[in-house]
Amino acid sequence: MKAEIIAVGTELLLGQIVNTNAQFLSQELASLGIDVYFQTVVGDNMDRLRQAIHTAESRADVLIFSGGIGPTQDDLTKEALASVLGRNLHYDRMAMDNIDRFFRGRNIPMTENNRRQAHAIDGCTPLPNETGLAVGNAIAHNGKFYIVLPGPPKELIPMFQNQAKTWILQQVLTHEKPIYSKMLKFAGIGESALETRVIDLIEKQSDPTVAPYAKESEVTLRITTKADSESEAMAKLDTLEKEIASRLGDHLYATGDIPIEKTIIDMLTELNLTVSCAESCTGGLLMETLTSIPGSGAVFQGGIVCYSNEMKEKLLHVPHDLLEGENAPGAVSAETAKVLAEQVRMIVDTDFGLSITGVAGPGYSERKPVGLVYIGISRREHDTLVLELNLKGNRETIRTRSAKTILYHLWKQLKEIADEA
Ligand code: ATP
Repeated sequence: MKAEIIAVGTELLLGQIVNTNAQFLSQELASLGIDVYFQTVVGDNMDRLRQAIHTAESRADVLIFSGGIGPTQDDLTKEALASVLGRNLHYDRMAMDNIDRFFRGRNIPMTENNRRQAHAIDGCTPLPNETGLAVGNAIAHNGKFYIVLPGPPKELIPMFQNQAKTWILQQVLTHEKPIYSKMLKFAGIGESALETRVIDLIEKQSDPTVAPYAKESEVTLRITTKADSESEAMAKLDTLEKEIASRLGDHLYATGDIPIEKTIIDMLTELNLTVSCAESCTGGLLMETLTSIPGSGAVFQGGIVCYSNEMKEKLLHVPHDLLEGENAPGAVSAETAKVLAEQVRMIVDTDFGLSITGVAGPGYSERKPVGLVYIGISRREHDTLVLELNLKGNRETIRTRSAKTILYHLWKQLKEIADEA
């Protein structure tokens, strides 16, 4: 089964908005086992829109449209599709009532063009819009399937998840076995390094299939299979998961779509351990990351943002001659990272103390290059781990990568503790 996404809107062609709907729809379709070979973007122009529909029909079974179903004259998607299919448009009653209610509720007169948002192609299944006014349309015609969705993501996403997906499962994938998938999450490894270690599995792409996704400092593999029952699917997925874990166990921190900070908070809670942080170049980002997880209060005690040398000295007792002087290692050094981690752990009285100090850029600091970062992990009654990182990217990327990297190394230590327990 092949699908093509047709995003409609001149704003997209002018680069005024980013086509995030195509990204969302592609991910959703992949998880349904539907291949997307082409994504098309076309402006608000009747002839070119009709041409895009004809082209997509020649190479896909399912055509999914985003945008161009609003009230104005340049919203042409339903008209263009109706004319290609040789069908008429009518007003969907429920959508019309919804539009009437909307204007009455606000006590403003409804202009006639708003009725366009209730347009439905004859014979279609109307897809109600929970967060807007324009009704979606889903229609099967001559062996092909067409789904028309609104442009605003806050309307398109719920309409796809709550209406269109069910229609696809019931009308399009009727003879297909259900799809099951699992997300495997990795840290401390880049997408390309990870890919080379499982490239044979990706290239085989038999059953289950393996698809990599990368976000900033996180890599995900989605493994997917089709099966008659959940137990059959899980057996297949578990076998593949074990194979991947045997190659990448040092990086595989979760099976499920969760960030590493969530795994860490869960592990600290489980192991009854606490953590504190001393942050220089990340300015509190690490603490923000940890405290974004509900329940972090049980294990995260607090910390100190020690941006200036003065604060490093005053609040965390870093010796002056470590920070300043001709031959001093400086604030961005392994020595300072070590003291910061050990001091914060002692001051806050936690099992772990984490520190980050580095050059986030854009300029040099202490004549040290942008991206040079030291991280420290002090553990009660253990030697302190200090690592030098040489990170690439802009200021934001360097700060995020620093925080994610120290979380990865903390996870490794927690895993060892959990394995020993
Ligand atoms: P409206 O009722 O707002 O006119 P519509 O369904 O006709 O909705 P468009 O007019 O094409 O949709 O787009 C409305 C807004 O939705 C755009 O200004 C943009 O903010 C967002 N949008 C449209 N298409 C996309 C897309 N492909 N990806 C992300 N956002 C989009």
